[in-house]
Amino acid sequence: MQTTYVIATNNEHKLKEIRAILETDKRKFLSMREAGIHTDPEETGTTFEENALIKARAACAASGLPAMADDSGIAVDALNGGPGIFSARYCEGSDEDRVHFLLKNLENVPDGQRGGRFVSAIACVFPDGTEFTVRGECFGQILREMRGAGGFGYDPVFFDPKENATFAQIHQERKNEISHRARALAKMKAELEARGL
Ligand code: IMP
Repeated sequence: MQTTYVIATNNEHKLKEIRAILETDKRKFLSMREAGIHTDPEETGTTFEENALIKARAACAASGLPAMADDSGIAVDALNGGPGIFSARYCEGSDEDRVHFLLKNLENVPDGQRGGRFVSAIACVFPDGTEFTVRGECFGQILREMRGAGGFGYDPVFFDPKENATFAQIHQERKNEISHRARALAKMKAELEARGL
């Protein structure tokens, strides 16, 4: 039997990534639009996991289907883990404005103390109340200037020492193999399989 899940996103990029990793003959994934629902709950949690759960619970309640949601961001050591869950709301304006704001706030942070990580938490919520979350992380350094034209968000200043490049310099396919979201999705796949789902 196939189970239909709704993904609490209308972001085509995320949907594609989730489908590529999790869709099988046992699992099918719908966007909120495809499921005929719209939810945009306030993200009042204090962790990535809590916010992912808030989004997944809202989509599950609205659709009556099992639901998944992700919450992600960048956590910088010198900012005590900030902007963290506030990454998307770090300052007004565009992704690029937020990158410049981050660089400005790290202006006086010396090389060697510019560590940070991308975090992705994915929550899965079922109509019977079953809930679980997984987390994927990626470690790197925050550069002093943007490098590369690919990716989105904070990618141009996130340098991955293993790739010797920023996430905006590597190919999208490669990023999809090593990213925080890819790691979280691999854990979600294992978790679903362990539960026979
Ligand atoms: P959301 O989960 O799509 O809402 O993203 C949260 C925030 O984290 C946004 O500001 C994104 O730009 C940032 N973010 C999440 N994932 C990535 C990524 O893979 N690269 C760059 N920025 C990211």
